[in-house]
Amino acid sequence: MTDKRTKIIQADIGSDTTHGAVSPALYMSSTYQFKSITEKGEYDYGRGSNPNRTSLGKAVADLEGGAHGVVTASGMAAIDLLTNLFKADELIIAPHDCYGGTHRLLTHRATQGRLRVLFIDQNDKAALKDALSQKPALVLIETPSNPLMRLVDIEALCAAAKKAGALTAVDNTFLSPARQLPLSMGADFSLHSTTKYLNGHSDVVGGVIVAKDLGHGEQLAWWANCAGVTGSPFDAYQTLRGMRTLFARMDVQEGNASTIAQFLQAHPKIEKVYYPGLKSDPGYKLAQRQQSGAGAMLTFELKGGFEQTKKVIEAARLFQMAPSLGGVESLICFPTTMTHGGMTPEAREIAGIKDTLLRLSIGLESADDLIADLTASLAKI
Ligand code: PLP
Repeated sequence: MTDKRTKIIQADIGSDTTHGAVSPALYMSSTYQFKSITEKGEYDYGRGSNPNRTSLGKAVADLEGGAHGVVTASGMAAIDLLTNLFKADELIIAPHDCYGGTHRLLTHRATQGRLRVLFIDQNDKAALKDALSQKPALVLIETPSNPLMRLVDIEALCAAAKKAGALTAVDNTFLSPARQLPLSMGADFSLHSTTKYLNGHSDVVGGVIVAKDLGHGEQLAWWANCAGVTGSPFDAYQTLRGMRTLFARMDVQEGNASTIAQFLQAHPKIEKVYYPGLKSDPGYKLAQRQQSGAGAMLTFELKGGFEQTKKVIEAARLFQMAPSLGGVESLICFPTTMTHGGMTPEAREIAGIKDTLLRLSIGLESADDLIADLTASLAKI
């Protein structure tokens, strides 16, 4: 069994030796019996380890091609967990246009003196050269970036970072291992907000970080227990359940996204569409090389200003006006006040996040219905 589509369906299926249940059991117990005063079993206390988290961590690590996956309570907890591997005076290079919550976390941790961070445009060769010359300990990559869908060449950046002595981590949330495998391109860590595509049903907040190297994985697991950032057993159970349909969901959602991107690109009221599946997109060639599809996220810029943007988003009916992404239902989001509201206006401007941007997470509905909804919304301006 080598095909990942098969592996994820089969993960933990039929593993129950007590009752022969086909679906895996949910273990809610917070504590586990010791065999003797000095001998514990595989599990002892739920903060450190739990069978459902073990299954989920293994399943994601398997998909990503890593040695160990540590399940956390959220995507942010996974990123914060990673920072525990570094000392306060070590430097982290992060993208200037990353998810707003990541920007906020690293900025505030740096203000507290708990780490050092430098936000740069990782596609700016001079800025990257200068940043790497400062001997960073970690380069954090987010590709495609949220919300501008800018791509970074993972293989090239990981090689350059390695040469500079840095570890590399890729936030793979926007594509999932169904479309991108950062560890195979040289990254040391691949991390996710499992809230998004991995769970896929907008009913869990969770995270996971997969280490290529077992030693790093064990360090992360140690810190996750120490700091208590592991997620609940039920969330892990739900997420593994959702992940079984990851490939099927991604296939259909990506097909819808491609159709919608073409529709928007041809629409007279749209200034620009950001979707690496479009031939005109600056990331198109790189996407062909490092991704196995363009994914189901896209962002567009309207002609006009904030008032027009407000009218369009508020007119949406089928698209729910909400942050987050990667669920079966389609969402429309205004990054300025939603996903990137935690950034200062100056940081948003540097990243290129304008007040005329709208981000779409494309779901499993019929593409015709989604286009009809967008057509009606755009007719309001
Ligand atoms: N990384 C990316 C790219 C995200 O979009 C998000 C959330 O939107 C996160 C990390 C944080 O994940 P969570 O909301 O599960 O903490």
